[in-house]
Amino acid sequence: MSTQEITPNNDPVFERVALVGAGLIGSSLAWVSRKKGLARHVAVTSRSDATRKRVAELGFADSLHAEAKDAVTDADLVIVCTPVGACGAAAEAIAPYLKPGAIVSDVGSVKMAVVRDMGPHIPEGVHFVPGHPIAGTEHSGPDAGFAELFEGRWCILTPLPGGDPAATAKLRLFWERAGSMIEEMDAEHHDKVLAITSHLPHLIAYTIVSTAVDLEESTKNEVIKFSASGFRDFTRIAASDPVMWRDIFLNNREAVLEMLQRFSEDLSYLQRAIRWGEGDKLQELFTRTRTIRRGIIEAKQA
Ligand code: NAP
Repeated sequence: MSTQEITPNNDPVFERVALVGAGLIGSSLAWVSRKKGLARHVAVTSRSDATRKRVAELGFADSLHAEAKDAVTDADLVIVCTPVGACGAAAEAIAPYLKPGAIVSDVGSVKMAVVRDMGPHIPEGVHFVPGHPIAGTEHSGPDAGFAELFEGRWCILTPLPGGDPAATAKLRLFWERAGSMIEEMDAEHHDKVLAITSHLPHLIAYTIVSTAVDLEESTKNEVIKFSASGFRDFTRIAASDPVMWRDIFLNNREAVLEMLQRFSEDLSYLQRAIRWGEGDKLQELFTRTRTIRRGIIEAKQA
């Protein structure tokens, strides 16, 4: 079954959007949907009483459901906003209640594992279009969300071969209206790109901060005192949600290990240059990396 026609103007893109999970990403999607009128109705479900209570207090859901099946019934778009490791079970739980012609997506930071885990549960006649907004903060939970999170940020869609192009186009429109710029690529390529741009930097940050934590008490105090000299930026990254990041590394194992191998080789090169006093090698590499930062600023992704 094909999806409805693309909405060209400011009408809602979908009648009913269901968000499974109401943390940073789920709540931000709810806020932006309401702010920009992307859906006539935003149904939200989250597994814990505490999160549902907070969602009710914050007031970003048109309806709030203890059972995911009640949120997704009649929804035209369902976005699973749980950690990657929970996406398969979420898809299995909602599958029997999905409306024919509905679009199912996700926001997981890894795509091959999500396709592997969610894909088999998506019924015939429902369109599965995985996605990943490259937007986030180190905060999590329903209080962390805000409508502007996706503004000017990329959202990567990884449509499946043979999928319905109209479903992808409609999801594209939804994200565009949420403020994002869209890129489409296959899931394998996504996982490789994100391994170096996001996953490895997080792994390095977790390692540096944990090394500092292991230092003796006197040094540790000074690490905090003088953190503005570089360490502070790593602590922000290393404050990201532990469960989310556990799931990312477990589910993008191959690509992360490949990038880690290359990184270790490059680190050894630097180690050697320092040991042998090869300043020219250090300076050449630091000069090359500086241009990357300038490129990021020019692309307004700083
Ligand atoms: P979050 O703030 O920690 O929220 C996670 C949500 O998932 C909560 O509603 C939580 O429910 C629910 N959840 C957690 N474990 C679950 C499980 N085992 N079964 C069912 N529900 C579960 O996380 P987030 O930052 O929004 O991240 C959500 C997804 O977006 C992840 O896949 C992540 O990879 C991706 N993502 C994150 C960022 C980022 O910077 N944070 C950026 C882009 C993409 P309760 O609160 O009720 O327990």
